[in-house]
Amino acid sequence: MILVNENYTKLPGSYLFSDVARKVNEFKAANPSANIIRLGIGDVTKPLPPAVIKAMHAAVDEMGNADTFRGYGPEQGYDFLVNAIVENDYKALGLDIAADEIFVSDGAKSDTGNIGDMLGLDNIVAITDPVYPVYIDTNVMAGRAGELHNGKWSKLVYLPCTAENDFVPELPKEKVDIIYLCFPNNPTGTTLTRDQLKIWVDYALKNKALILFDSAYEAFITENDVPHSIYEIEGAREVAIEFRSYSKTAGFTGTRCAYTVVPKTLYGYKKDGEKVMLNQLWNRRHTTKFNGVPYIIQRAAEATYSPEGKKEVQAAIDFYLNNAKIIRNGLLEQGLQVYGGINSPYIWVKTPKGMTSWAFFDYLLKELNIVGTPGSGFGPSGEGYLRLTAFGTLENTKEAVGRFKKISI
Ligand code: PLP
Repeated sequence: MILVNENYTKLPGSYLFSDVARKVNEFKAANPSANIIRLGIGDVTKPLPPAVIKAMHAAVDEMGNADTFRGYGPEQGYDFLVNAIVENDYKALGLDIAADEIFVSDGAKSDTGNIGDMLGLDNIVAITDPVYPVYIDTNVMAGRAGELHNGKWSKLVYLPCTAENDFVPELPKEKVDIIYLCFPNNPTGTTLTRDQLKIWVDYALKNKALILFDSAYEAFITENDVPHSIYEIEGAREVAIEFRSYSKTAGFTGTRCAYTVVPKTLYGYKKDGEKVMLNQLWNRRHTTKFNGVPYIIQRAAEATYSPEGKKEVQAAIDFYLNNAKIIRNGLLEQGLQVYGGINSPYIWVKTPKGMTSWAFFDYLLKELNIVGTPGSGFGPSGEGYLRLTAFGTLENTKEAVGRFKKISI
């Protein structure tokens, strides 16, 4: 008899984006001439930068030549990419991250989802709320989340991030072992300053806890007091794993490349108290269950660090940030409470007059033909908010802002 992992059966269906799509399709069927603007998507729309395409073409040619063909590569990533990461993402910030602390992968989604493989099931896990759902769902699959009651998992510790606390999570009252932090945040678009992040690093140092720091939106940081890496904070090398991705940075959502940093100064513990180097465990997991990112794609990622690559990547980020500014200012002008959009492609809007997230979603769809994402889909503390994204065209973004002027609630 085939026994299943029953934890999987506890997961509710992932309805958020399918519910959004269904409502939009129903509205479109009833109103075929409506010009719907989609500001709900969390996917980039600009094509890959020319420097990346050039590098990919060259790598494809190498693969077609017996002298330069490559078969299986190092699972942790080729030296050329790992060294480019060390130089550009860490040494440039004055941070000492070694090549063998970096693990190149196919995505921050996979890595934030798989990292729990090497962590004990008895760890108490804290997540910020609202949250990128992968952190929760993968802990449910592993059996660390308990049972779902009224939209909350019984064993998870929720750290609400709302306008009331300026979207800065407070330290938990109970002791936790693993903390997922994502800054700049999806979905709220808000950040932590160095001082605010230091509070978490100090907590982790004091409590022998692990911070899983998702930095997928690092490239959007514009403000000086927002850290680009958690390792800017003293002591973080002892407590934090950092996840980075080329997806939103360089348009790799369909190309797939990311990396994870597991410092060799970071230890977990066996039940008898013996220390275990997490870098060694992750190396074992990565080399056993993952066969490396394709050579062509790693050359593409390397090209984002070339002088032309850097310029082209920055131009795309600036484009999205400009869209974010346009949306943010347009909503502020209508007197709405708006967060994010300064160090992030996400704009988090408080629904007016206490409307629910879905009621505001319906209003924007029906009255303004604009699609957002209801905040309640990201967790209980997302209720009463709606997420808009800056990944649309400039034309659509401006058109949407023109329509915001018609908001009359
Ligand atoms: N982490 C966060 C917070 C995200 O919002 C996303 C994508 O939306 C990811 C990770 C996924 O990154 P990747 O495309 O590298 O898997």
